[in-house]
Parts: sequence; C-alpha cells; structure tokens
Amino acid sequence: MLPFFDQDHLALRERVRAWVEANLIGGPAGEKNLEDEARRLVKRLGEVGFNRHAVPRAYGGAREKVEARDLCILREELARGSALADTMFGMQGLGSYSITLAGSDEQKRRYLPKVASGEAIAAFAITEPDAGSDVASLKTLAARRGKSFCLTGTKRFISNAGIADHYVVFASTEPEKKAKGVSAFIVDANAPGLIVKEKTEVLSPHPIGVLAFENCEIAEDAMIGKAGEGLNIAFGTLDLLRCTVGAAAVGLAQRALEEAVRYAGARQQFGQAIARFQGIQFKLADMATELEAARLLVYQAAWAHDCGNEDAKQKSSMAKLYATEAAQRIIDQGLQIHGGVGLIAGSIMERLYRDIRALRIYEGTSEIQKLVIARGLLK
Ligand SMILES: Cc1cc2nc3c(=O)[nH]c(=O)nc-3n(C[C@H](O)[C@H](O)[C@H](O)COP(=O)(O)OP(=O)(O)OC[C@H]3O[C@@H](n4cnc5c(N)ncnc54)[C@H](O)[C@@H]3O)c2cc1C
Repeated sequence: MLPFFDQDHLALRERVRAWVEANLIGGPAGEKNLEDEARRLVKRLGEVGFNRHAVPRAYGGAREKVEARDLCILREELARGSALADTMFGMQGLGSYSITLAGSDEQKRRYLPKVASGEAIAAFAITEPDAGSDVASLKTLAARRGKSFCLTGTKRFISNAGIADHYVVFASTEPEKKAKGVSAFIVDANAPGLIVKEKTEVLSPHPIGVLAFENCEIAEDAMIGKAGEGLNIAFGTLDLLRCTVGAAAVGLAQRALEEAVRYAGARQQFGQAIARFQGIQFKLADMATELEAARLLVYQAAWAHDCGNEDAKQKSSMAKLYATEAAQRIIDQGLQIHGGVGLIAGSIMERLYRDIRALRIYEGTSEIQKLVIARGLLK
C-alpha cells in the first residue's frame, strides 16, 4: 500500500488496528440489542476520533478535506473486527458527505460537528420500492408550500432508519424534469410526518428499515444545494463512498484468511495438520492472492479519488466490484477450510459468510458497477 499512503495514513492504520484488536476482537461483548449496539459503536467511534475522518476539519473533522484513503483504512480495519462497527462508521460518511459536498455553511455547522463527535447518527435515503438501481425513477415528491416543502413517498432499505438523528433525503421537486428534477434535503428525525414504517431484518445484523413521508413538512432551508442538483449530489457522495465498500470487503476477507490459516494449522486429520495438504495450501494461496489484488485496487481507487484523477470513478467501480466479489469467494473458501465448524451459528466464519453478502448489493450492485466500467470504455 506504500505507493498510495503517506506517514499520516500509516499512523492512522496502526492506531485503528490497535483499537480494533483491543476493543472489537479482544474486547468485551457489546450490547445484545442491535440498535443499542449500533448507537454505542457510533459514540465510541466518535470518542476515539475515528468519525472525525468523515467530515472536514472546519466542522470538527480530522483533515482539511475528507479523504477516501482515510475512510478505506478505517473501514478495512473496522470490518476485520466487526461488520457492524464498519457499517456504523461508513454510514457517518454516507449520511453526511452530501452536506459536506453541497450544504450551506449553516447546514455544515449544524450537522457535521455532531457526526464527527458521534453525538448524532447520520443516514442517506434514496432507495424506494420502485427505484433501486434505477434511482432516477424515484417517486418521492417534495412539493413547495410557501416557505416550506411537503414530502410524500416511501424509502426502503434505509440504513439507520429509526436510530438516525437526520436523513439526507432525495425527492423530486419537478417530476416532469425526471432526473434533473430531483433535489436533496436534510430531514431531522423528529420532523412531523416522518414515520419509521418498518424495521427490516436482513441476513447480517444491520439497522435498516422503511421510511414513510406522510405530508412531512420541512423548512425551505433544509434543501442541500439548489433545486434539481439532487442526483449530482447523491452520485458525488457515492463516488467517494464506493471504493470504501470495497475496503470493508477487504477487511472481512482479511479476517477470513487469518482464521483459515490459524484453523488449518491447528486442525488434525489423517495424522497431520490439514495445512500440510496441498489441497488446503492451494486454497490459502488463492485467498491471499485475490485479497492482495482487491486491496491494491481499493487503495488505487481511493488515491485516484483523493488526487481528483479523471478515471477515479471507473477505478472505484472496479475496486468495489472486484473486492466485494473476491471477498465472497475468499470467505467461502475460508469456511470450507473450517469444515462443519464453519457453519456453527455465531462462529466467526458463519458470521463473515453472512456479513459479506450485502456488500455486493448496496451502493450499486455488481452488475451496475460493470455498466459504469463498460460505459467508461465505450464512451
Ligand atoms: C444492507 C443494505 C443497506 C442499504 N442501505 C441503504 C441506505 O442506507 N440508503 C439507501 O438509499 N439505500 C440503501 N440500500 C439499498 C441498495 O442501495 C439497493 O438495494 C441497491 O441499489 C439495489 O437496488 P434493489 O435492491 O432495488 O435491486 P434492483 O435494482 O431491483 O436490482 C435487482 C437485480 O437486477 C439487477 N439489475 C438492475 N438493473 C440492471 C441493469 N441495468 N443491468 C443489469 N442488471 C441490473 C441488479 O444488479 C440486481 O441483481 C441498502 C441495501 C442493503 C441490502
């Protein structure tokens, strides 16, 4: 990783790694209730200063500009210890970066310092029942009523639904303009007419649910940027976060490799450690090689983003696509090396096997990443 890191990145990686070892891998068990644990993690990540890497220095952040490399380092190391810790950190970035990108100074001062300190939980709401990969077809309406907007519609698969303090919400202010009529808003969790309709249970523990906006009235100054800029703001946010999903996948896969090496060395069959069988060694070699390739793609993409390179978007799609798909294969092989032990509910391999799955779907499925990559080639 050295070509993409400076001394600050290396120091950050050491600090996060040590914290993860002490608090997530070696630390006491967290709260039993998912939402309580999610809240506790955001607070802890704020106290140790990690959330500060999700916002700019002027608003309580660690650096002048939010860096993709910092986010990737944090997500890789946190995911190695706990998928939920990674999710909660990632969401502080996803649910605030639209404000960093296009918000007014007043909006930044109001929301960003609390995201950095862990006092507030952030969320990002674009997906709808009929608008998943095709986000431009979203139907949530934001109708102007004098000095306010009235939101009506439904958002689903919204991470942090029910525990967030604010939601960055994308809604149409001019439906006839389709994609160009979408605007971005900050909706406080206590806004009248904002209802958490459902807490959705998914494969791996993740606070997520359905939001309904039933004549939800918000002030006109809740709009981020200008009317019609919503999708550009959403895509600008996802452009930063996309490679960080790849980094989380690398962290989960790294843990799987470590666990597989340890288990293969300890498990005896046919009178020797299974690590002595070439069939197992080949699996470990494949896992390690794919992991290294994934990590290089992720940090190359993060570096390209931080440098403002023209091909950063394509590189970050490649990084997300390859890292999440490779991590799924690596974890599957790691579980295979564990035999039946890998399937025991609550064991680390069983957990990783479930934790990795969503990453190939959220923030752009693997298929959508391929479309972005191909579009770049064919333009
Ligand atoms: C754990 C989790 C957390 C999430 N968190 C959030 C969040 O915080 N905020 C938020 O707004 N959303 C969130 N989402 C939603 C997520 O971004 C969407 O699930 C994702 O974009 C895919 O949309 P969809 O599920 O509707 O699938 P669909 O778009 O219906 O896709 C179904 C299948 O069709 C494929 N497909 C679709 N279009 C094409 C095409 N043109 N070419 C080829 N194949 C295609 C897809 O790749 C997929 O395999 C989350 C989802 C999950 C699972």
